[in-house]
Amino acid sequence: MLQLIRHGLNGKRPFPRMWREHELKDRYEVVIIGGGVHGLAAAYYLARDHGITDVAVLEKNYIGSGGSGRNTTIIRSNYLTPEGVLFYDESVKLYETLALELNFNLLFSQRGHLTLAHNDSSVRTMRWRAEVNQLQGVDSRLIWPDEIARLCPQLDLSDHPRYPILAALYHPPGGVIRHDAVVWGYARGADLRGVHIHQKTEVTGIDVTNSRVTGVRTTRGTIKTGVVLNATAGWATLISDMAGVRLPITTHPLQACVSESLKPFLNVIIVSGSLHVYVSQSDRGELVMGASVDPYTSYSLDSTLGFLEGLSGHLLELMPSLARVKILRQWAGLCDMTPDYSPIMGFTPVEGFLVDVGWGTYGFKAGPVSGKRMAELIATDRTPDLLAPFRLSRFEEGRLVGEKGAASVGH
Ligand SMILES: Cc1cc2nc3c(=O)[nH]c(=O)nc-3n(C[C@H](O)[C@H](O)[C@H](O)COP(=O)(O)OP(=O)(O)OC[C@H]3O[C@@H](n4cnc5c(N)ncnc54)[C@H](O)[C@@H]3O)c2cc1C
Repeated sequence: MLQLIRHGLNGKRPFPRMWREHELKDRYEVVIIGGGVHGLAAAYYLARDHGITDVAVLEKNYIGSGGSGRNTTIIRSNYLTPEGVLFYDESVKLYETLALELNFNLLFSQRGHLTLAHNDSSVRTMRWRAEVNQLQGVDSRLIWPDEIARLCPQLDLSDHPRYPILAALYHPPGGVIRHDAVVWGYARGADLRGVHIHQKTEVTGIDVTNSRVTGVRTTRGTIKTGVVLNATAGWATLISDMAGVRLPITTHPLQACVSESLKPFLNVIIVSGSLHVYVSQSDRGELVMGASVDPYTSYSLDSTLGFLEGLSGHLLELMPSLARVKILRQWAGLCDMTPDYSPIMGFTPVEGFLVDVGWGTYGFKAGPVSGKRMAELIATDRTPDLLAPFRLSRFEEGRLVGEKGAASVGH
């Protein structure tokens, strides 16, 4: 302890800084707006896979201050559409080796993910999801109360609750990871390869001439560039408006909370779409809990008592034994919701202005795959197959990728 205090006071830092500070240059090959997992991962893979290192990541606050540092860290690929399942599955696979790749402990725990079904129509949807998942090679199946009880004995599986548990979609590779560590790991990896990370640098305008991006204006000066990537999630429409690109996105707050620390007892992630609640236990023992987005559009990060009351009531219906557990803290983040609950990635009508947005309540898990594939798109000027279904033009073409059944609560 004395040694720790001495280290704190003597000014000598035993650990090097994880990323450096730089002067803002007046020109970069690529400018990425948003220092969340998406912006940083895109920068990392641009440098690692394509040797493009003249890259600036501009973050108005500190990195990870958006959804990337506020989420409930659930990683899974048991989506509803084949396009979604294939896409998220590549991300789960990248996450499986990411700690090794970044040489940073990300505390990834693939403990299994259970989505409960409380009525016949949910059982039908879970069966549908299981079949789509299995066809894409993803480990996911429908299970019944006896197996649910073995995986999570704390659930009330009797017929007493208003919405008894009939079945569940079980997805063993689903898990949780330390979100800050993912952000910091990508930042360090990008920095080591020459990317400039600029915190406290807010983008205030985007210069477009003859439908082509020419630069970005910031609170620290103007940058000339031919490629701008909008990776600002909850702020996505504000940034795209600066380039004159309209997005079919509305921003909603999403709240979450954690309980006091308890001895480890919950070995799986539990989601109930019907009750609008989900819960997992963190490595610190806290129960991490959330629900669906607030039903109104807003940029407010306020927490509400209504959320806490609704969530607690629903959670106690699932696990009455938690009645005396205390809530430790609650918070909110911003979610960029699209009409089909799928993201928007790729080119826009303005040449050089690209988007990696529409991440709603489910984008943390997609950081690695979208970063890797958006980097490929920037480097090759071609849309990778995995991203093609998520192009912006799908809304004009009427080719939506409807994921609401798998994405509205179970982030
Ligand atoms: C409570 C909650 C729980 C969630 N749970 C999950 C989950 O369990 N699993 C999952 O996969 N997803 C979850 N999500 C969603 C997930 O957090 C987001 O989809 C994801 O973090 C988006 O990452 P990003 O990098 O695109 O954006 P962000 O991390 O939001 O980063 C965008 C950045 O852009 C910056 N920015 C904005 N405007 C400007 C500007 N003008 N100039 C410069 N910088 C700017 C912001 O400051 C911000 O740091 C959850 C979200 C919340 C809020």
